[in-house]
Amino acid sequence: MGSTERIKNVARRIAKWHDAGHQIVVVPSAMSGETNRLLGLAKEISNDPDPRELDMIASTGEQVSVALLAIALHAIGKEAVSYAGWQVPIMTDSAFTKARIRSIDDSKVRKDLDAGRVVIITGFQGMDEDGNISTLGRGGSDTSAVAVAAALKASECLIYTDVDGVYTTDPRVVSDARRLKTVTFEEMLEMASLGSKVLQIRSVEFAGNYRMPTRVLSSLTDPLMPLEEEANSGTLISFEGDSHMEQATITGIAFNRDEAKITVMSVPDKPGIAYQILGPVADANIEVDMIIQNQSVDGKTDFTFTVPRAEYNKAMDVLDASVKAHIGSGNIVGDAKVSKVSVVGVGMRSHVGIASRMFQTLSEEGINILMISTSEIKISVLINEKYMELAVRALHKAFDLDKA
Ligand code: ASP
Ligand code: MG
Repeated sequence: MGSTERIKNVARRIAKWHDAGHQIVVVPSAMSGETNRLLGLAKEISNDPDPRELDMIASTGEQVSVALLAIALHAIGKEAVSYAGWQVPIMTDSAFTKARIRSIDDSKVRKDLDAGRVVIITGFQGMDEDGNISTLGRGGSDTSAVAVAAALKASECLIYTDVDGVYTTDPRVVSDARRLKTVTFEEMLEMASLGSKVLQIRSVEFAGNYRMPTRVLSSLTDPLMPLEEEANSGTLISFEGDSHMEQATITGIAFNRDEAKITVMSVPDKPGIAYQILGPVADANIEVDMIIQNQSVDGKTDFTFTVPRAEYNKAMDVLDASVKAHIGSGNIVGDAKVSKVSVVGVGMRSHVGIASRMFQTLSEEGINILMISTSEIKISVLINEKYMELAVRALHKAFDLDKA
């Protein structure tokens, strides 16, 4: 919702759905740029603002947009009422700036819906058990929307955003990337965690846990477009085994440019070493992703893992101290110019040869694989960042993702 003009359009869109006989709950985000502006004010005053107070500030962005949207609905003759998270209430834990939703009381909302009102609830926020306002982390309105939909047992949760759906890969890298009509929530979870930032990842977890069909669609279309058409647009995040699933082997290619790889060389091959290396890294709150421990020669082994590039220097410092103190031996070497490319698809469960096709494609492009990791529906490789886009394009083609 970029402007009051856009808010009027949102109201028209909502009225269209309501006129068609649907009960509607709307969960808006703040107006664009507003959350950044609000948090920026706090940063002008302090480098280390209290997270509770940050949530007090940030939550106001959504409070403005819900009220404006209610007013816009009233202006076109619709009954509507807006609520802040704490008024519903949406209960969360007390992890300010990254709170998790614990429960949602749907009784007030139900009454309004039954009285024919459109209900508008602030995204991104809730209240902890001591009555403090909390927020759910950046992009948290997605999670609020899915959670509210699940609490109300809605038939579908529609997430209107600035992209028109989920693509086979980033269209900025591969121009013939295709929009997917459906994607399973597991695939979506893999793609989201691999850096396709269409939705906040927690919202996808909610959709999966509560089996809430969730559709990602464009907020930029004509609000008065035919409802049937709008209802089938975008990408539906659905569940494996649903009959309308496209049965492709691979659904998408995800990537993450900003990885770094660290190797602790020739450490003793004995119990406790992995823990001694990674324990201090975890204690420093650094997320470790891929891990390889090589075959040992003469009782010594190399231990390699990846961390987000932004954490590379910190991780090296932590290791420098801890490896010296606890392991003694072990030269530490690193490479902060690596990227991860992954092929994702539930079809992998029933098709063989995906990994070999992936490796063949990379070898034909002369791309060296540094590390490999797999899950049931994903194969990831770590490569030199120079070749990332080439790898994504080659794999997109090799798995026929450009063909509908
Ligand atoms: N307004 C919040 C943010 O900018 C929540 C959201 O947009 O989903 O992060
Ligand atoms: Mg958002």
